[in-house]
Amino acid sequence: SLILGIESSCDETGVALVRSTPGTAVPTLLAHALHSQIDMHQAYGGVVPELASRDHIRRVLPLTSTVLAEAGHTLADVDVVAYTRGPGLAGALLVGAGVACALGAALGKPVLGVHHLEGHLLSPFLSADPPEFPFVALLVSGGHTQLMRVDGVGQYELLGETIDDAAGEAFDKSAKLLGLGYPGGPALSRLAEQGQPDAFKLPRPLLHSGNLDFSFAGLKTAVLTQAKKLGGDLEARKADLAASTQAAIVDVLVKKSLTALKETGLRRLVVAGGVGANRLLREQLNAACQRQQIRVHYPELHLCTDNGAMIALAAAMRLQSGQQQATTTYAFDIKPRWPLDALGGTTP
Ligand code: ATP
Ligand code: MG
Ligand code: FE
Repeated sequence: SLILGIESSCDETGVALVRSTPGTAVPTLLAHALHSQIDMHQAYGGVVPELASRDHIRRVLPLTSTVLAEAGHTLADVDVVAYTRGPGLAGALLVGAGVACALGAALGKPVLGVHHLEGHLLSPFLSADPPEFPFVALLVSGGHTQLMRVDGVGQYELLGETIDDAAGEAFDKSAKLLGLGYPGGPALSRLAEQGQPDAFKLPRPLLHSGNLDFSFAGLKTAVLTQAKKLGGDLEARKADLAASTQAAIVDVLVKKSLTALKETGLRRLVVAGGVGANRLLREQLNAACQRQQIRVHYPELHLCTDNGAMIALAAAMRLQSGQQQATTTYAFDIKPRWPLDALGGTTP
């Protein structure tokens, strides 16, 4: 069957079409299209929710047409319309949910609300080297930093998470302090390539906490303190400070992931979310996992940040696993706050 997926939880409008074939492990991505609003929000130094919602309205149907044309299909061929139900910005979520349910109602086809983080989590299944269950998942995005034990679709046990900022937020806030724009994660990591990671001593919060929780709020304060101390020398030392910041974040992510693997006894790690695109993180995880003969899987680089493909994929995998059924009840309730481990099995 053909599943159309619509993502609109934050500042990316994503649409994708996947084919799900019973008996095959992983659905096939037929086409996907994305519009990022980054340029629009850049001037404000962050996402402006009202502008985000309005832009989703403008983009979602044209993107849908593009995806269908690229896949050689029409709306009439779509069997299920999936959308991001949460978590995310309420107004932005309402656009995707409203459009999906209107499309479903007009076509007489069922709809399915998807958990955005489940989309991130399952996105490595679209890569050339898809994982197998069970695995430990390191979910590192702009809003979340979590370690999870994943035994199957819908079987998510939270092992630890950030008690304050997310890893992506730590990248972005530090980048902002260094004048690298928004969202500055990729820019900070590019600048870091030219710097010395041990130039500045920055804190690795909760590194030895004995549990699998994270804390990144203190890091940006330390970066700010360093930047102030450097004063006029900041410009010349910026790459060093960027490299040191990145090293501190990556260090904690790698160590805690290894601890989670050790504690669960699992031999497979799956990384997902925007920070999963980070080169240093991939290098260090690859090296550490190779030493311990642990398999590690990532989403394709362009599917690390928000996209429609992961939403269509998660819907297809939930349907295929019998975790959920699509519904022809077109009344929707979005969930701006929605913990992933509360997802569980069959929901309406
Ligand atoms: P959530 O999924 O938790 O709701 P989100 O959707 O905003 O949050 P993602 O789209 O998964 O998050 O990821 C965006 C984050 O990833 C941003 O914080 C961005 O800076 C970060 N990011 C993207 N590429 C890189 C990179 N190469 N290095 C470091 N951080 C990166
Ligand atoms: Mg985004
Ligand atoms: Fe996301």
